[in-house]
Order: sequence, then structure tokens, then C-alpha cells
Amino acid sequence: MTQEIGGFAALDLHPNVLAAVIATGYEEPSAIQIQAIPVILAGHDMIGQAQTGTGKTAAFALPILSRIDPAKRQPQALILAPTRELALQVATAFETYAKQMPGVNVIAVYGGAPMGPQLKAIRNGAQIVVATPGRLVDHLRRDEKVLSTIQHLVLDEADEMLKLGFMDDLEVIFKAMPESRQSVLFSATLPHSIRAIAEKHLRDPKHVKIETKTQTVTAIEQVHLMVHADQKHAAVLRLLEVEEFDALIGFVRTKQATLDLAAALEAKGYKAAALNGDIAQNQRERVIDSLKDGRLDIVIATDVAARGLDVPRITHVMNVDMPYDPESYVHRIGRTGRAGRTGRALLLVTPRERRMLQVIERVTGQKVGEVKLPDAQQVLDARIKKLTNSLAPLVADAEASHGDLLDRLTADIGCSPRALAAALLRKATNGQALTLAEVQRDQPLVPNSSGPRERSERGDRPERPDREGSRERRAPVPLAEGRARCRTALGARDGIAAKNLLGAILNEGGLAREDIGRIQVRESFSLVELPEEGLERLLGKLKDTRVGGKPLKLRRYRED
Ligand code: AMP
Repeated sequence: MTQEIGGFAALDLHPNVLAAVIATGYEEPSAIQIQAIPVILAGHDMIGQAQTGTGKTAAFALPILSRIDPAKRQPQALILAPTRELALQVATAFETYAKQMPGVNVIAVYGGAPMGPQLKAIRNGAQIVVATPGRLVDHLRRDEKVLSTIQHLVLDEADEMLKLGFMDDLEVIFKAMPESRQSVLFSATLPHSIRAIAEKHLRDPKHVKIETKTQTVTAIEQVHLMVHADQKHAAVLRLLEVEEFDALIGFVRTKQATLDLAAALEAKGYKAAALNGDIAQNQRERVIDSLKDGRLDIVIATDVAARGLDVPRITHVMNVDMPYDPESYVHRIGRTGRAGRTGRALLLVTPRERRMLQVIERVTGQKVGEVKLPDAQQVLDARIKKLTNSLAPLVADAEASHGDLLDRLTADIGCSPRALAAALLRKATNGQALTLAEVQRDQPLVPNSSGPRERSERGDRPERPDREGSRERRAPVPLAEGRARCRTALGARDGIAAKNLLGAILNEGGLAREDIGRIQVRESFSLVELPEEGLERLLGKLKDTRVGGKPLKLRRYRED
């Protein structure tokens, strides 16, 4: 066991919960976890001010699981979440942390799925119920006793719940639970309405908030990139193509992530290694020495493992996973910009983490400007620039040293110097894509695409127009509620497939996959279904986006 585990071990969690946390690969508790876990374990009511990305889910899930009695087969903890997505995410987190607790069951209760099986699972003794308020109230109408055994309540993202109009539902739910329960409320902001709920329904709550001091980081240029979580590896690889770095440190959250990303980078030919708390101290020192003297250029680390790391060669810090709090962000990016040099810090932000970005901007007092994922043309230009830079210094005296050999080879082979130079380039670049078409083919726009969208992508392969062109005129399928249909003049004849459009819109629009509906690629245009809400802003964001080297120019499409 490594020394860092001490951080979690000191928190007094149930041994089986602790074992599951260790198996998950977390090295140390985040700031909100250090503060909230003891309070919840002690049975106090609590108000936690924290947003997504701070580790807030584990901050309540770990102590609540520690206090559950697996032998009692009845609902003991209720977690309310504003959306189905969050409810599922929280339920999955509970399942992960309960892996070593046989007999503990978690049920997610949300709208859009049949009610019968949900109620059955609750009655069958799921101890943890994660629910959206609306659906839970529907259950209460069928069975008012369903929450009568709840001992722990968590309102997650309470401010979002109120924004979505769940106030009345919350009142119904509060009434259906025993008054002796423990109540915990997590919210990113504490407007008056939240304080009022706390006053009415929480008993002498303790306040937990991560204090954020303003910190300055002037010598460091900071930028962020919006990216969907399952596209991070592809995004990192593409960013590295165009970033001119000497040495780079990338931060991720878990040991496994250090290994996965370092391996992906090595496979692409980078001199990269992982640094995490499981790696023995002498090996860690070897990694750092290698980064210092240039045997390594990239280290992918967890915060714990990178503590105290001081390597002046580091020009770039890449926050592949969001830090838990602004302090650790400032700490991380302080690894560059050492010894009076300027450094560059990149931050990958998933759509759910936007708020954390705003907090970081507030605390550092600096705008973290947005960059777009480089397109194929930019990747190609960067590759050619690197090649130019590596060859230019050799040109001056190469003719003196190798000119005669060149003459002999061209004579022996019977080719022109241009043909020979081209052959040498092919050898030197070792199969690397160095034309636009090759780079476009190589760029993984949407890695790991799976699930329902995969099917729609397959169904949307570029179609050949039939003779009358009737496919072009075919009536579009009806639109789902809340969606708008948009059109681009790019189609199959431009070599575009649905996945190219999907990738570009996800990458540059900062959307989640489920935000994008059906994509129909026709011969001379394509249609994409996007969320109606915020559409104008999204189209503005995509204004300069190119797909396959051509402008996307997405516009709202009206059927009439
Ligand atoms: P949350 O703020 O609860 O949405 O958590 C954000 C992410 O951080 C989730 O992917 C968690 O799995 C991860 N996480 C939470 N606590 C830790 C920790 N102590 N160490 C590493 N990762 C964590």
C-alpha cells in the first residue's frame, strides 16, 4: 500500500468502502471529500457548496455507504438529482464504491423508464435509491410508504433542481420521510431559495465550502478546449501535433488513467511515461530524471505523484482531467513557467465541467481563452513545419559531406536527385501521413463510438443519388421535441460521413453526444438535429468549423 492511501485511510470509512476506493485508483481525497466525509459520517446535517468536478459525489457516497446496514433490506438512503443523466451517474458511482459490500443494492429511479420494475426494486430491498424528484413523486402517489425508512437524504445539485421547477415535488418528498433522517444538501450556489429550504428542512446544518483564494499565474498562457469525455485521448493526441513543446506534464485523476494515456502516447512515438503513487520511489525518480535530461518528453501524472516535481524544461502543462479545485489547478500549472520562462497551460473541459472553468477563471482572475481542436490542415502544417525544422540545419553542410554519395547513388539507381530525395524523405518520415487526404483519413474524429448513435451513423452512410434525385427531395423524418434541424452544404460528394459531422460538432460545439440527434448525409447536403435551446450560440461557435478541410457553415433548416 502506498503512503498516499493514508489520506483515505485516515477518514474512518467502512473498511469495505475504503477497499473499493483503493481499487478505484483514487490516490487521495479531494478537498471537499476531506471536509465533508467526517461531517456526514458523524451524522450531521450539512450544506456543501461544491460543483461537478470537485469529487462531490464520493464526498457523500462514501460516508453514506459506510453508514448503511446491508442486512436491512429496505431503502435507507435517498439521493435526489435534477436530471436522469446525473441520477444514473450518481447510481453508478454508488455501485462502484459498494463493490465490496455484498447485499447492498442501488436503484436509479427516473422518468422515461417503466415504473413497475423501479417500484419492485425498491420493495425488494434496494438500500440506496437515486431518483429524480418528478418520478419519485409519481411513486409516492402509488405507495406513500415508499420513503418511510429513509435515514439519509442527499439533495445533489439543489440549485439546478430548483431551476428546473422541482420545488413543489421536493416538499412532497420531504413530508414522506421520517423527520429523524440526516439531510445533506449540495449546491454550487446558495441563492435565497436554497437557504430557505435548508432553514426549513435541515437541522443545525454544518457548512462545508472550499475556500478559494485569488492566485496569480502571470507567466503562464492559459487556454481550454471543450471536449467530450470519451474523446479525450484523441483530443490530446491532436493537440500535441500542433503544440510546440519541449517537455510536457499531463494531469489525470487516476493511476489507471496515467498508464492508459502514457501508453497511447508511446504508441504514437512520443517519449512518454506514467507517474503515479503505485510506482516505487526510485522508479519515480528515474522518470523525473529522464524528463529533466530529455530521455522523456511527456509525463502523465496524478496530482499526488507530481508533488514537488520541478523540471525547468517543462513548457506545457496539460490538464487532461479537471483538477478538483482552483488551488490544485494553480498548483498544477505552476509546473511550467519556471525560472522566469513563460509556459502554456491547456485545460480539457467536458460539457458538465463548464462551471468549474468559470470558478478557475474567477479565482485566478484571468480569462482562460478557448482553443479549437486543430483540423487536418493545421495538423499537416505542423508536421511539415517540424520536418522543415529538423532538416533545415542539415542542409548547410550536407552537400559537402554527402554530395558525392548522392551523385553515385543517382547514377547507380539511374534516378534524378529529386526522386532520390523523395525516397529518402519517405524513409525518414516512416509512413507518417503528410498529405491532407492522408491526415484526414488518419484523424480519429469520434473514437469509441458505440450504442444507439453508432447505429444511426451506420444508417447514414453517404448515399448514392438515384436517377431522379428523389432522395434529395425525400421528406425529412419528424423532429423530436426540443430539437432543431440544421443544414450544411457538405454531403457525400464532399467525402463526408455522419461520423465526421458528429465529431466536428462534438469537438467544436462542446456538446455531449446525447445532445445531437439524427444525422442524415445526402449527396449534396446533410441535415443534423441539434438542441433548440442555445442553438444560435452553438451555430456562432461552429461558425469557423471546417470538416474535411471545407467550411461546415451550419444553418437552421426550415422545411417549408
Ligand atoms: P464529481 O465532482 O463527483 O462529479 O466527480 C468528478 C470525477 O472525479 C469523477 O469521475 C470521480 O470518479 C472522480 N473522483 C472523485 N474523487 C476522486 C479522488 N479522490 N481521486 C480521483 N478521482 C476522484
